[in-house]
Amino acid sequence: MNIYITLDYEIYFGENHGTVEKCIIYPTSELIRIAEKHDVRFCFFVDCGFILRLDEFRKKYPQLEKDYKLVTEQLKYLSDTGHDLQLHIHPHWEDSFYNGERWIIDVKRYKLSDFSETEISDIVFRYKKTLTDLTGKPVFAYRAGGWCLQPFSKLKKAFMENNITLDSSVFRNGFYVSENYDYDFRGAPDKDIYHFEDEPAAENAAGHFTELPISAIRNSPLFFWKLFLLGRKDPYLHKPLGDGRAIPAPGQRKKMLTEYTNCTVCIDGYNAHLLQKALKAQQKKKFDNMVVIGHPKALSRYSIQKLEEFVTKNKLAHNFTTYAEQFNPATGTKVLLNKKKLKNF
Ligand SMILES: [Zn+2]
Repeated sequence: MNIYITLDYEIYFGENHGTVEKCIIYPTSELIRIAEKHDVRFCFFVDCGFILRLDEFRKKYPQLEKDYKLVTEQLKYLSDTGHDLQLHIHPHWEDSFYNGERWIIDVKRYKLSDFSETEISDIVFRYKKTLTDLTGKPVFAYRAGGWCLQPFSKLKKAFMENNITLDSSVFRNGFYVSENYDYDFRGAPDKDIYHFEDEPAAENAAGHFTELPISAIRNSPLFFWKLFLLGRKDPYLHKPLGDGRAIPAPGQRKKMLTEYTNCTVCIDGYNAHLLQKALKAQQKKKFDNMVVIGHPKALSRYSIQKLEEFVTKNKLAHNFTTYAEQFNPATGTKVLLNKKKLKNF
């Protein structure tokens, strides 16, 4: 099994956005510790809009200099030591600013598709360039902010122009609708990799783009009750390391505590205890790929322990890998490990 441990590298976007040290730098340094001890590499989907904004506002507010330096130096270190840095877009940074004390985050235009096609092309170009300027390595894979990449037909041109050929945002049966935030992956095929053209949750064998979906799992209400109660019982172990708050998701908590929910396989907090079970489920389906999502800001001491146990247990039998290692950046097509022949799937 190729196992991709993927992290969305970002602060919080709620009223309390948290600090760069606690939401990003410290939890990522724990991931680096695990990676170096076990000789594995992880994938980071970098919220490039934040870096652009930091770069812009540090000129006016020198107190941002420290955050800019911490983030760009950590990203360079990650890239130089073989971790994979790819594109994560939260376009609400276009409408957000620093007021001298904190970030004033406006999420009215939360999805890339809330912008015009010309604006989308410009955003994808600038955000991608931020990352390539920093690492000098090809950027071709994408994770949508908040999983919002529909309608993809509106994004397609910008992705073609900027050579973004692989997406890793879909998770099977994922579905959520709120006022300015929605995704619908209920039609996604039960596959670990496929091609698509205009709709990332629909397979099109002749499609230009590759989807490497985030592995999915169905969680019972009992799981969320446990998560909720453990956080209260042992906050040292179970509280997220990040010191901000997420954007409220109306109705989401009540739904999770009362109904079965289709979720991503995830290393955030208590979710990490399901990693081994999720790997077994992928094997049972005879899948070759397992994509795990996480956020440095949402990791807990417990989830870091669980991730390390998972890596220790599986590093010899399985292949912890990255998009850069497995795919041809020009085409998003899978490359055999000898990197000579292209494999069709
Ligand atoms: Zn994100």
